Amino acid sequence: KKLGVALVGLGRYSTNELAVALQATQSCYLAGVVSGTPEKRDFWADQYNLKPENIYDYDNFDRIADNKDIDIVYVVLPNSMHAEFVIRAAQAGKHVICEKPLGISSAECLQMINACKKHGVKLSVGYRLHFDPYHQYLMQLSDKVQYLEASNGYTLKDHSEWRMDKSLAGGGALMNIGIYCLQSACYVTGKTPISVTAQATKTRPDLFKDIEETLSFQLQFDRGVSTNFVTSHQLPMNRLMAISEGREYTLSPAFSYRGIGKKYAFEQYKELSQQAAQMDDFATVIRKNKVSSVSGEMGLRDLRIIEAIYEAADARKPISISDKLYT
Ligand code: NAD
Repeated sequence: KKLGVALVGLGRYSTNELAVALQATQSCYLAGVVSGTPEKRDFWADQYNLKPENIYDYDNFDRIADNKDIDIVYVVLPNSMHAEFVIRAAQAGKHVICEKPLGISSAECLQMINACKKHGVKLSVGYRLHFDPYHQYLMQLSDKVQYLEASNGYTLKDHSEWRMDKSLAGGGALMNIGIYCLQSACYVTGKTPISVTAQATKTRPDLFKDIEETLSFQLQFDRGVSTNFVTSHQLPMNRLMAISEGREYTLSPAFSYRGIGKKYAFEQYKELSQQAAQMDDFATVIRKNKVSSVSGEMGLRDLRIIEAIYEAADARKPISISDKLYT
């Protein structure tokens, strides 16, 4: 039997990517939705032929506990709402996928992990690039990597959106897309960093008041590998370059949903739906009672690295993170 997924939050990522990817999965299907907007609930019910009893709003969501059609709750809300809905999903006995970043603080991530453990459900983070063949190739470089740089940025044009609001986003570009750079640092080297340095700059201080606009950071590992990363809500950038055993491996673009390596790549792979592969993998995790390769613990690790990066940018000095990580 295919596993039923309920999407929580019907914004752009659910609408344009996840709903489409669900049609391409082998082991999952869209079984329900959770939304605060009546028009969206009606539209999705109609569009995807959903049963009326599988449509929820944020208030009656907890009743999902009694719904046998729903195996997985996929939280796709603004970052500060992830913790509440992951914990409520766990309490309802449902396995959970949560979008990145897992939470807006490491403390929240820990609460989410503990709730899932307590209720015996699996937790994973929507780290789709782990299922992309280019990134999977780079993961094999691991110990041999000598240098890694990555940049991920775009010009955020709608200044009224939640990503500009610290209380909803938890931070700026780093929380939103810089997280892909630090993710790649960990999976390409196969390690977690031991310390970080970071520098914040603003080309538009008038727009970016309490959250970062452009942030450069460097991650130090317990062996000789140099790294450099930039993330921005103002500058368009999307590239990754590793040097391993003297050979260069560049991807451009590196972090997109589609067309990875379209401008430049070290290899050519067939296009696949990252999100379909990600959800099928989670279905296997559930069926075989395994731990997800993009686990809640990984989401927690990343929030700890993010917190250290913010601290380093403020303090203008290196911040050690070796004692703060989960492994
Ligand atoms: P979006 O703004 O398009 O959608 C957000 C949804 O949340 C909307 O349906 C909105 O109605 C709902 N919502 C509920 N309460 C809200 C509030 N107080 N303020 C604003 N919206 C509220 O955002 P999105 O791009 O779909 O992002 C949603 C989540 O998915 C974020 O955590 C984001 O980081 C993540 N995301 C991940 C990827 C990826 O590649 N993995 C890509 C895009 C977004």
